Amino acid sequence: MDVAPFDASSSFSRPNALTPMEIYCPKCEWEPPSSAQWTCECGHSWHTFDTHGQCPECGKVWRETQCHQCHEWSPHHDWYHDLPPVDVDEITESEEAPAE
Ligand SMILES: [Zn+2]
Ligand SMILES: [Zn+2]
Repeated sequence: MDVAPFDASSSFSRPNALTPMEIYCPKCEWEPPSSAQWTCECGHSWHTFDTHGQCPECGKVWRETQCHQCHEWSPHHDWYHDLPPVDVDEITESEEAPAE
């Protein structure tokens, strides 16, 4: 992968953006508008990026988020693209690493 941060044509439109990070589909780069909604299995619809993937109605955490454009499912955190640089050595997949 190259290191181009993001598509300049779409990300420079908000100089004083209220949202510090870019959120878009890691597969097709679709940017969910604030009007976009996802439906939980409980039937509730909401903007999943307002709650980091957690349904405000039943509390279910959606670890993967489906794109409305390409319909691919991607890990919720993969949608965030403007996170501060982190030392990847400090991040370990201890959460759900099946010891096999
Ligand atoms: Zn997509
Ligand atoms: Zn729900």
